[in-house]
Amino acid sequence: MPASKIRIDHERCDFCGTCVAVCPADAIELRESSITVDPGKCTLCESCVDICPLGVPEVAA
Ligand code: SF4
Ligand code: SF4
Repeated sequence: MPASKIRIDHERCDFCGTCVAVCPADAIELRESSITVDPGKCTLCESCVDICPLGVPEVAA
């Protein structure tokens, strides 16, 4: 498993679901007011980083 991971700041996310739709690994789970990334599924492709209109997902060490 890679040492880094995707971090999503709930305070800035508006839960639009755009990143969920583009994630090729089906690693992002969106509920009404929470969003989580499964580090076991995430391949760090950064598609969610590129697509988010608010720039919320970040690669964290
Ligand atoms: S695309 Fe951005 S704002 Fe939309 S759900 Fe994902 S992290 Fe949140
Ligand atoms: S980096 Fe890629 S695999 Fe990981 S959560 Fe984002 S879109 Fe999904």
